[in-house]
Amino acid sequence: MMKEVSVIFLVLALLSPSYGADETVSFPAAMMTVPELTNYQRTSTFAEVVAVVDALRQSSDLIHRETLLLTEDGKDVPLLVLARPPIATPAQARASGKPVIYIQGNIHGGEVEGKEASLIIMRDILFGDKQHLLDDQILVFVPIYNADGNDNMSSDARPSQELSPLMAGERQAHGYDLNRDGMAVETAETRALYLNVIQRWDPALLVDLHTTNGTWHGYSLTYAPSYHTAGDGATSAYTADVMLPAIAQSVKEKFNLDFGWYGGFDYRDWPPKELRTYHHAPRYLTNNMGLRNRMAILAETFAHDRFYKRVHAANVFVEEILEYTNTHGREMQRINAQADVRTASRLQQQTGAIENGIQFEMAPLEEPLGLLSYKYIPYTTPTGDTEFARSSEIVTIAGVLNYNRFEATKRATVPTAYVFPAELSQVAETLTEHGIDVAVLEQDTRFEGEVFSVTGIETQAFVQNQHRNTLLQGQYRSASQQFSAGDYYVALDNRLANLIFYLLEAQSDDGLAYWNFFDSYLQSALAQNPGDAAVVDFPVFKVLSIAAPPN
Ligand SMILES: [Zn+2]
Repeated sequence: MMKEVSVIFLVLALLSPSYGADETVSFPAAMMTVPELTNYQRTSTFAEVVAVVDALRQSSDLIHRETLLLTEDGKDVPLLVLARPPIATPAQARASGKPVIYIQGNIHGGEVEGKEASLIIMRDILFGDKQHLLDDQILVFVPIYNADGNDNMSSDARPSQELSPLMAGERQAHGYDLNRDGMAVETAETRALYLNVIQRWDPALLVDLHTTNGTWHGYSLTYAPSYHTAGDGATSAYTADVMLPAIAQSVKEKFNLDFGWYGGFDYRDWPPKELRTYHHAPRYLTNNMGLRNRMAILAETFAHDRFYKRVHAANVFVEEILEYTNTHGREMQRINAQADVRTASRLQQQTGAIENGIQFEMAPLEEPLGLLSYKYIPYTTPTGDTEFARSSEIVTIAGVLNYNRFEATKRATVPTAYVFPAELSQVAETLTEHGIDVAVLEQDTRFEGEVFSVTGIETQAFVQNQHRNTLLQGQYRSASQQFSAGDYYVALDNRLANLIFYLLEAQSDDGLAYWNFFDSYLQSALAQNPGDAAVVDFPVFKVLSIAAPPN
């Protein structure tokens, strides 16, 4: 008996942090991350992440563990909920009124800084000097989102990082880039994110932590909001114009680090005249959140920094985001909720009169920026060509156009509902995985609206996430069409209307048509209707009447 007691006492002593005379917190080794214990030579494996998470859980009741998913390789990926007082269910989160903030690391298996920073921040919140970050928010962490990719480590996975750390994981998960799967939902990770995070916990903000692999700019970390695409602009505008500038300023004041807008430039055009961000498409998870009227931040630590600096930058960024959301989270909740109401109600007054963008191009902000960059020096080669050498000096280049917004190049009318035949059950299933309500017609029904006549099917030459994407040519015409009991009906009088629109529009540049969901339907319809005038109707009918939806 005595022996058992002393063993238990010893275990508790090993697992509980203690404070030294100088107020520095001392942690048990089990709570230290692999980079901290290896002089930043190594990054954690999945098992090592789980070991730290388990050590935190054994000593604190403020952390609740759920399973995000079981991966193809059989890993039980943890999702951690930190709250004070502790909670274990979304109902408790809602009852508290506090916003839920969601942080995920490692979606690209080789980009490991967010994974390590998440572990460090959870430890500092639970046992260090950051407990106040639970005052007015609930935090959900998935430190290791692409667990299978993370463990597929090699020394040549991240060439721009010069073997710091010595090995890093693989970008993809079983051949899929998880940050291109936001619309098609073909991976277990995306399915789990939508079901077990977005639908279950409804975070007000998603933070997706990456590492760059290109441009030698002069920032420790670069960021982007969710881009507007076809959504309500308020959530993105708040993130870009209010939240991110405030966070960048506090990072500069507290840590003397320069954070700035994500983007790249061509040094051969030295000095750069424009900084261009990445893309608007909602296959990227941060953009997808914008279509759901929720905020999102993409973060990219600077690949060419040493590993310890990248972990520090990720750590500081998440900390300052959480300082911001701890005091402004309720305001963010209100902005999101107002966007929900606008999205769900706007069709009631203006049926058939609203258009949203379905294809976009990048455009510059009005205000140019002073861009921090490593300076390039032009020199003449023996053959007389001009080349550029990168110097070690960081300079500010004034007047750089900041391509950091998107304008619609093609628009379409927003319907009151979409209807499509029962044989397209895969489409219905994918919409459901997005969290969209899909109804089934109980009786044969005639609808008034528009149908898209497909006059051409263009297949893209390159392969993206194992697809050759499809672009449809054609035009809408007014039509009246009979549908049968068992066909699918998707109403747009709800807060996910912008997402539904982007998924189901025939010419959407990132919709289900683009992701080949209708290819076999269209091809077999064309085969039945051969000849010169090979025209086929896109099977998703747009309902424009305001008649009450069928039961
Ligand atoms: Zn990435």
